[in-house]
Amino acid sequence: MSVIYKADYVLPMDGSDPHTPGEVWVESGKIIRVGQGISATNPQAQVKNLGKCAIMPGFVNAHSHIDYTLSRNSHDALNLWQWLHRVGFRKGQTPDYELIAASARLGAAECARSGITCLADCSFSGAAAYAIDEIGLRGIIYKELFGQSMGADYKRQFALVLEEIRRLQEAVSGRISIGISPHSIYTSAKEVLSLCAKTYADINIPLSIHLAETGAETQFALHGTGPIADWRRSLGYEVNPSGCTPVQILEDAGLLRENVLLAHCVHITDAEVKKISSSGAGVAHCPRSNAYLGAGIFPFSSFRAEDARTGIGTDSSATCLRIDFFEEMRFAAAIHRAKAQDAQAVSAKEILEMATKGGAAAIGMGDVTGQLKRGLRADIIALDLGAMLPGEDIYMSILSRSPADVILCLVDGLAVDEDIDARTQELAYLMEQHTIA
Ligand SMILES: [Zn+2]
Repeated sequence: MSVIYKADYVLPMDGSDPHTPGEVWVESGKIIRVGQGISATNPQAQVKNLGKCAIMPGFVNAHSHIDYTLSRNSHDALNLWQWLHRVGFRKGQTPDYELIAASARLGAAECARSGITCLADCSFSGAAAYAIDEIGLRGIIYKELFGQSMGADYKRQFALVLEEIRRLQEAVSGRISIGISPHSIYTSAKEVLSLCAKTYADINIPLSIHLAETGAETQFALHGTGPIADWRRSLGYEVNPSGCTPVQILEDAGLLRENVLLAHCVHITDAEVKKISSSGAGVAHCPRSNAYLGAGIFPFSSFRAEDARTGIGTDSSATCLRIDFFEEMRFAAAIHRAKAQDAQAVSAKEILEMATKGGAAAIGMGDVTGQLKRGLRADIIALDLGAMLPGEDIYMSILSRSPADVILCLVDGLAVDEDIDARTQELAYLMEQHTIA
C-alpha cells in the first residue's frame, strides 16, 4: 500500500528544518520520501491530508516497565530501595501472570496514546513482549533477572533465562527484539554480570541495566554501607564492598559497550560520562522517575557535552505517576533549565531530538526508527495543532501538546491499537478478582 501523508508541518528530526507544509510517502511499511511536492509528481498514490497538524517520527520510550502499570500510585513518598521493597515484584509478592499481562497491555496502550511507537522495556515476566506485539508497537523487551536471588544455582537459572529469551523471541513478531536485563549491580553479583557479558559475546542480544540511579547505589558499591546495603542485608543477601563505583563494576564486567542501554546514570562523574559516551553504550534519562523517587537529577549538560547517545524514558507509571510522554519531555526541559539557572540549558528542539532520534540511537535502533528519513520504518505520529496560534514556535508548541492531540500513530505504516478504556476496565476487573500476595 502506498500513502502520502500531508500536513502543515512535517518535522523529519534528522537535523533538517521542518517542511511547511510537507509530505511523507509511505509504502510497504517504509518511508519512501519526505519533503514537498511529492503528491504532485505521484498522482497514483493515495493522499491523506491531515491539515493543521505536525507529522513527525513517533517517540522512543528509552526505559519503561509496562508490567508495573497495575501498581500505579499505590504508594507515596518511597525512596528507590523502599519502592523496590514495597512495590517491586519480588519473590513471594508477584501477582498472577494473567494480571501482569493485562497490566502490560494497558501500559502499552497508554504509550501508544502518548505518541510512543517504540519502547525499550524491562520485563521480569516477559508479558510486555506479548503486550506490545498485540498492540502493534515496536521495541526491545529486556528479560529482567535478579542475580542475587538466583543464589549458588545461578548458572543453571541463567541458562533457563536464556531459554526463555529464545522462546519469547520465537513467539513474537519481527518488530520486537528480546534482550536481557540484569536489574542492577546491587541485585546481581559480579559472576552474573560476567555471564551476561559472555552471552553478549556469544549471541549479541541487547542488554540493559539500571545504573548509578541513587547515591545509595554508589555507597553500596564502594563501601557496602547505606540504605541499599542495609536493605539487601535485611533480605539475607551478602553485601561485599567492591571499592569500585557502579560504572567501574560494569566496565570490569565487560558491559560498557555498544548495544548496552544504561538506565538513569544520575550519580556519575564527568570522567565516567566520557567513558560511557565513548564506549557506544546508550543512556536512558528518566527525569520524572528520578525526581519522584528522590534519586537526583541526571547530569544532562555533561552527557550533551560528550554527545552521548541519550534518550528519554518514562520508567514505569508506578514511579512517574502516569505515562504521558509530553509531560516527561516538559519536565526534562524545566528541570535542566532550573538546575543550570539558565533558560538556554536545553531547547525544546533538543528535547524532541532526544525523544526521537536520540532514543533510537540509545537503544541501538537508529537505522530503523526515530527519524522521518528514506529507508527507515514508517513509525510516524501526527499531532493536532488546531489550538496553535500564529507566531508559536513549532518545537515549543509540540512540547505543549498532550496525548489527546495525537491523532495518528503508525508503526510500519499501520495504525496501532490504543484502546485505553477497554484495557483499563479489563485490568480493574482482574484486580478485583485477584488478591496480590
Ligand atoms: Zn527501571
